[in-house]
Amino acid sequence: MTTPRFHNFIDGQWVAGDASRPNVNPSDTNDIIGEYAQADEAQALAAIAAAESAAPAWAASTPQQRFDVLDAVGSELLARKDEIGRLLSREEGKTLPEGIGETVRAAMIFKFFAGEALRHGGEALPSVRPGVDVEITRHPVGVVSLITPWNFPIAIPAWKIAPALAFGNTVVHKPAELVPGCAWTLAEILSRTALPRGAFNLLMGPGSRVGATMVDAPAVRAISFTGSVATGRRLIAAAAARQAKVQAEMGGKNPLVVLDDADLGVAVNAAVQSAYFSTGQRCTASSRFIVTAGIHDAFVAAVADKLRTLKVDHALKAGTDIGPVVDARQLASNLAHIERAKGDGAELVFGGDVVERETPGFYQRPALFVNTTNAMAISREEVFGPVANVVRVADYDEALAVANDTEFGLSSGICTRSLKAAANFRRHAQAGMVMVNLPTAGVDYHVPFGGTKGSSHGPREQGAYAAEFYSTVKTSYVAAG
Ligand code: NAD
Repeated sequence: MTTPRFHNFIDGQWVAGDASRPNVNPSDTNDIIGEYAQADEAQALAAIAAAESAAPAWAASTPQQRFDVLDAVGSELLARKDEIGRLLSREEGKTLPEGIGETVRAAMIFKFFAGEALRHGGEALPSVRPGVDVEITRHPVGVVSLITPWNFPIAIPAWKIAPALAFGNTVVHKPAELVPGCAWTLAEILSRTALPRGAFNLLMGPGSRVGATMVDAPAVRAISFTGSVATGRRLIAAAAARQAKVQAEMGGKNPLVVLDDADLGVAVNAAVQSAYFSTGQRCTASSRFIVTAGIHDAFVAAVADKLRTLKVDHALKAGTDIGPVVDARQLASNLAHIERAKGDGAELVFGGDVVERETPGFYQRPALFVNTTNAMAISREEVFGPVANVVRVADYDEALAVANDTEFGLSSGICTRSLKAAANFRRHAQAGMVMVNLPTAGVDYHVPFGGTKGSSHGPREQGAYAAEFYSTVKTSYVAAG
């Protein structure tokens, strides 16, 4: 059987790249999903030029036209959720229910922003001067570059593309090299909508070449990025140097505090869900369990018991709880973090080893460390895999201090029956998102998403707050006479 080939989408045309890259299933490396075009710098510049040419027409579109495009995309994603969810699980390795769930989420995001296109408005205020009217209106920013990571192959593209288009911008999207399949499918759906030619472009290819051009091109007025801290920091500096608008969502080292008075079942569920599901490859995954002494031993025993029951296997197999790690490089990185933690004196109470299954894939059992301190590398560096460690603390005050003792601030959780502790934690947790008696991962699609400190830069994504990044404000003064 010949391997299917997939092209870039530039100025309304499907265009081959100067090279292609195989999309490999991490559950079965013999399964090649397709050969995906790799754009070069000239193609990146052509896509940006196309988006620039299309900008006036799309900026002039009516809210109804924008609604119709976004609503149609949402409806098609919903109708094809099983097929696209399966593709997602095949290329990224999260389980099939997780893949379908993520596709539904992407559909809902398109539908939400279809509505936002209708609601998008400004303000009229009385002037402080007599006989003057003041009006604040919102306008598109122009061409936006959207650069996305591999761990949410359809939801993250959706939560950038949908608001960008809803607020009248034109788009160049570059997915991560490991997951071009879902992005290509989304581009194909967008290619059949009533968008003007060139209003949406897909560029697949390496970040160092395609991504860098999308950051540096003068015609690009805004860049939204989700990915690693190292890439994000470089990109923020490059965008700031030429005064382009920039928004970056980066890493996390999200704490989950468990207090003595917690419901043990709730705490164990929150911990296991957020640290290990989706193979721990979520920026909101909790990887530090901060546990007070009275519940520590029971919590550790219950988490380890639960981990023993979880099935690590092919993402598409019924009954799999945890799919493979995304690729060989990420697996090697996870194992290096595990070895480093052991070397630092942490005690591995469960998992962390590579396991073999029927198909060749990157299978790793979830790892749980105890006897760790918050100063160890395992408590400070993002692993981005199914690895978590427990830090034992004396009381709530120490738990809060340890939770906040990190360079990151994305999501922060607490399990407790105390209203006082929960309220105090909501107020003092240094994070963009706070969870009480819930996993740190798993968020709604209609409210803002993002972090503080080293995790995020720029305005929030998602919900009504997305308008802040994807539109710009004009204040008009009119002498009413
Ligand atoms: P990455 O930084 O390697 O890549 C992200 C994207 O940036 C890819 O599309 C890549 O091709 C591109 N890129 C790479 N170099 C570039 C450059 N010089 N210029 C422009 N673009 C470039 O990250 P990844 O490995 O794909 O994703 C994993 C990381 O993403 C993790 O660290 C995780 O925490 C983070 N993440 C954060 C969030 C969040 O919302 N905070 C969500 C998901 C993932």
